[in-house]
Amino acid sequence: MSLPACPQCGSEYTYEDGAMFVCPECAHEWSQVTATTEGEGERVIKDSNGVVLQNGDTVTVIKDLKLKGSSLVVKVGTKVKNIRLVDGDHDIDCKIDGIGAMSLKSEFVKKV
Ligand SMILES: [Zn+2]
Repeated sequence: MSLPACPQCGSEYTYEDGAMFVCPECAHEWSQVTATTEGEGERVIKDSNGVVLQNGDTVTVIKDLKLKGSSLVVKVGTKVKNIRLVDGDHDIDCKIDGIGAMSLKSEFVKKV
């Protein structure tokens, strides 16, 4: 039986822990239920608390996020207005004051 690769870092060393999949490389955990319903119907994107996000929502960042390829850091608590939901690994497109257009992962934000 083959387990799915980690949705966060792409690691293939995923293992099962009860009803969850766990990635040993980035410590990401996700449920098997979520994995199997992916691709069915409309995609629902949820924040870190499981609240469904919609285009135009305002969210805050729940942890410091380093921007790849730069020294910029999006600080925890940063408010992000008017998000746009997109397909992909980073499922939120947005514009942050002082940084500009960027992509975020919904698991690192919280709806305001
Ligand atoms: Zn991982």
